[in-house]
Amino acid sequence: MSIRPGEWVEASLRGARILIIDDDPLQCKHFSRVVEDWAALAFTATSLSEALRLYRSVNPDLVMLDVLMPHVDGYKLSQIFKREGRFVPIILLTALEDLESKRRGLAAGADEFLTKPVNALELQIRVSSMLRIKRLADELATANARLHALATIDALTQLPNRRVLSERLAFEFARAKRYRHPLACLMLDVDHFKKVNDTFGHPVGDRVLVEVGATLMETVRTTDMAGRYGGEEFMVILPETRSADARIVGERLRRAVAGRSQTSAGLPEVTISIGVAAAEHEGLVTVEELLRQADQALYKAKDGGRNQVVIWGSRTESP
Ligand code: GH3
Ligand code: MG
Ligand code: MG
Repeated sequence: MSIRPGEWVEASLRGARILIIDDDPLQCKHFSRVVEDWAALAFTATSLSEALRLYRSVNPDLVMLDVLMPHVDGYKLSQIFKREGRFVPIILLTALEDLESKRRGLAAGADEFLTKPVNALELQIRVSSMLRIKRLADELATANARLHALATIDALTQLPNRRVLSERLAFEFARAKRYRHPLACLMLDVDHFKKVNDTFGHPVGDRVLVEVGATLMETVRTTDMAGRYGGEEFMVILPETRSADARIVGERLRRAVAGRSQTSAGLPEVTISIGVAAAEHEGLVTVEELLRQADQALYKAKDGGRNQVVIWGSRTESP
């Protein structure tokens, strides 16, 4: 029994991208006709390089792979595909019925087996059930990515949240200590932010925080990390950075926020105060101590009149 065009096909098959790999062009042609009868899209490869190229460019929903090709080991190819990370079901087509070849196939990461000659209806059933699994796996991956974003990204500013900052700081601290490298941590706090809320309302305050966050993100290097520590406080982590350079970065951030008014029509101007703690390796203490130092420096910056950078343990304050 075979499926002909126009017959009812399962919704999971419609538009599915199916990569057919067989060294025999006639077999490829045969299977792609079968696949197209399901209103699915067939892509065929008769060589290893073509198979790999298509796998990466087409992003198939499923792979049908002939396991006994003279120049390509189907088992090895399955392994390569599985190592690419995302879940793409692989159906091995084999002339072999023996258990050993199925064991090898499973070990290589194949998800299904069909023995040649393949019955078209059986193929359709297996492919559609695999595509349903694939869709569930994709939904799960999307949900996981969303959960990960929720757990790590601050909803208002879209910056890394406190949890990510703390983890990154602990990691960078351990690394700095291990390799005797410098590390700097900046605590930033918006000045008189309560007044912004009181004068312009909470929603405007929120927009100011978004802008400040975006300004910090734009100003730091990609190897640095800027995030929202909480409320109107931000943190910037600068790996491989000594206090003299941290001061320069802090100044740049301070000026970027204070100078923001020219570009942000309608939003009130704000300034930030910055406390810097730099752990030059000989003086590395603990992460908690580093944070305490950054906090103390920030407190001094507030005390000294705000809109300024203070380095912990340093007497010189920027204007
Ligand atoms: P200082 O210069 O000493 O830092 O003064 P401040 O007014 O900024 O400090 P304070 O800690 O008194 O006030 C912080 C304000 O930040 C109070 C709080 O309502 C506001 N805030 C915290 N989180 C948010 C937020 O997500 N959105 C808005 N709009 N305001 C926030
Ligand atoms: Mg504060
Ligand atoms: Mg504040």
